[in-house]
Amino acid sequence: MAGFNEILGHEEIKENLRKAIRNNRISHAYILSGERGMGKKTIARAFAMTLLCERSSTEPCMECHSCRQFLSDNHPDVIWVSHEKPATIGVDDIRTQINDTITIRPYESKYKIYLVDEAEKMTVQAQNALLKTIEEPPAYAILMLLTTNEELFLPTILSRCVKLKLKPLTDDTVIHYLTEKKGISEEDAHIDAAFARGNLGKAVELSGSEEFPAFRAEMLHLLSQMHSMDTAEMLDWISKLVKDCPDLSQVLDFLQLWYRDVLAFKVTRDLNTLIFRSEYGLISEFSQKSSYPGLEQVLEAIDKARVRLAANVTKELTLELMLLTMRET
Ligand SMILES: [Zn+2]
Repeated sequence: MAGFNEILGHEEIKENLRKAIRNNRISHAYILSGERGMGKKTIARAFAMTLLCERSSTEPCMECHSCRQFLSDNHPDVIWVSHEKPATIGVDDIRTQINDTITIRPYESKYKIYLVDEAEKMTVQAQNALLKTIEEPPAYAILMLLTTNEELFLPTILSRCVKLKLKPLTDDTVIHYLTEKKGISEEDAHIDAAFARGNLGKAVELSGSEEFPAFRAEMLHLLSQMHSMDTAEMLDWISKLVKDCPDLSQVLDFLQLWYRDVLAFKVTRDLNTLIFRSEYGLISEFSQKSSYPGLEQVLEAIDKARVRLAANVTKELTLELMLLTMRET
């Protein structure tokens, strides 16, 4: 667990929270929103730990009684709201864990901090129950809603919370973290970072995954064979991919990054701009075979495939149409 100083990126949010602490203007309700893996919990923990720290500062000391309790997940004034049904946070969860206990003063600290992870799962009734508490909270109470989708909150909830939205980190920040802290090779770190699009948690997950390198190898194999495959082979490959890959958006992400590399190489002839630089030979071959308009068409075909998947066109047909465009160009 970390204080603000150890959290990578998210400078605006960290400064916003630190400033609130410095000026003693802490809001009673916050919404932290961002994709899974971006660091909502890490930020919420750093904020809570700092607020509760006995050496009141803008960074937790990690040593006082409060910090030690927090670090061992045993702080009596920190409540992570749980829910029994995996897909919903119901009105009873909010009533029993927040509304019924919020009037009890904190045991040890100035604050009592409630955290709701996956808060978008709150039903409308649950949100309405919570609203009463947000409207007139006790002075010591702080509520943090962590969510991947704040659009599912009632406008009345949104208007009463300080909204903090996590932004993607730069690829360089992610690459640096993977190579320095995780010992990942430069080449792999570039690919993981490109796939994660600034989501550090996702990049770390990819860098430690056993499936991801296998997936990459399979995709590279396809690309190397693509221009010589006959239609039957192509259809075989499509059914295999649909079976192996529950999330086809990963396939589309891969192809998009690949063709961007091909296009970049065609324009610049510079290896250093490439994500897949160890596949230099194949990229160079693709860039010679394809014209600029052809590459534009392929990138459009990949976008179109995303739209088709979202519109529930069958996966097989979607891939077939896209691969045909890729082969023609
Ligand atoms: Zn402390």
